[in-house]
This record gives sequence, structure tokens and C-alpha cells, in this order.
Amino acid sequence: MRALGKHGDALRKKYFSQGIRPGEAGANWKAIPEYADYIKRHDEQYAQSRKLLEQRVKLKLEQRRALRELLYVDNPSTFDVVHKSKFASSDPRTAALNNGIEEFQRLVSANIIPPGSALQVRKGGRGRSSMGQVMSLTTTARERTVVHEMGHWLEDVNGVVHEKAIAFLDRRTEGDPVVTMNRAVRDKFDRKGYYDGREKTKPDEFRDPYIGKQYIGRDGQPYATEVISMGLEYMYQAPVAFAQEDPDMFDFIYRVVRGQ
Ligand SMILES: [Zn+2]
Repeated sequence: MRALGKHGDALRKKYFSQGIRPGEAGANWKAIPEYADYIKRHDEQYAQSRKLLEQRVKLKLEQRRALRELLYVDNPSTFDVVHKSKFASSDPRTAALNNGIEEFQRLVSANIIPPGSALQVRKGGRGRSSMGQVMSLTTTARERTVVHEMGHWLEDVNGVVHEKAIAFLDRRTEGDPVVTMNRAVRDKFDRKGYYDGREKTKPDEFRDPYIGKQYIGRDGQPYATEVISMGLEYMYQAPVAFAQEDPDMFDFIYRVVRGQ
């Protein structure tokens, strides 16, 4: 038994003699008069702090939503969504998918979605990323993941958006050396990265070196970027921090999603 010191020993002796075993599972602490007030106060404070915490989370979500609304476009986009796998209504991905698509549509103008473009969705996929026409959602996918992945889809269906992303990346990273993602993460955040050693980036002063990630095809040309996906994810998740920390990229994304 843990040493409680002289005071503890005296207390224990006192309660043991009354048949109370403080410290044992199920011990009736409230039967100990010296503790009753304390426990009552503790329970009340705990309930109060739970309530405040819930309020805080709710307010934070409301605030984020209100800020995002400032960024909504005048003419939200619409397009067909084709489900390549069945998502059960109990699957958390179902809500993430529906809400994520809705948020994307509010953040991206109709005029930059080529007519006939359809979003194909299926379950699975390696990690979070899903380059290409079909968006794959792993079990951990959340609303922000959906918005991010739809950024890749947008770059895929609209070549002009892709060209703009490349030009932006070229301008920002001109003359920068290519480094591994792991090295960039260590330099920027002073922590270990868990990327594949083949994943490379030009980190610039981006909020996240992942934005400068290099996707170079066999022809030596970039076939994708993380610029639009990361930008849209920030617009969705942290618009104020995004605008403050990288106003240049914020303005770029703001204009691109409006076809400007
Ligand atoms: Zn991505």
C-alpha cells in the first residue's frame, strides 16, 4: 500500500475501525464525513467544466462556419456524384462525404467545373490521398479530408486550374532545392516525419511543406500538386489562420475558385 505518511496512517486506522476501506474499489467515499463536501464540490465542478467544454466546442464550430461563410462563392458548383461503393448510413464517412461535398460546392464556383464532370467515390485507398478521377475514402476520412481530396479532383477535371497551381508553385519555389518530406518536416516543425523516403518537396515558406510536394511524371512534368487541395482544406478548416499566415496563397486560392 502507498505510504500516506503519519496523517494518512491515522486516517486509515480511523476508517478501517469503522469498516470503511478508502482506496478500495467501490469504497463508499461519501460515507466519510470529511470527504463528503469535497466530493460533492468536485462533482459539481466537474459537471460545470464538462458543460463549458461542450459549449466551447460548439462555439468554435459555429465561429469557423461563420468565417467560412464569408468565403462562399456567389454561384456554388453542382455536379453528379457517382458512388462506386455503397456507404451505409451508419458509416461516419457518409456524413463526412455529404457535408464535405456541400462545403466544396459552396467554396468553388460553378463556372470552373467543366460540364459533364462527375465525382466518383469509393471506399478504401491507401492513406488519405487519391489522385485521379475516383476519390477513395479510408475509414478515417472526415469532412476536411473530403474537401482536400476534392481539390485533387478539381485539378484533375480542370486543366486550367492545374496549370495555375503549377505556375503558383513555380513562382513560390523558384530556385528552391528539392528535399525529402521527412527533412522538410524536421526543419519546419522540429519533429520526426513518417513519410516515404521517396516523397519530396520544395518547402518554401508554406504553412506546411506538404504544399510543395513534387509529383513528377515520367515525362519530367508535374502531373498534380497539393496546392489546390491544401488551399481548399485551409479555406474550410482554418480560413483566418490561412489568410494571416500565407496571404499570398490565400489570395491565389480565393481567385482560382472563382475562375479568376
Ligand atoms: Zn493531397
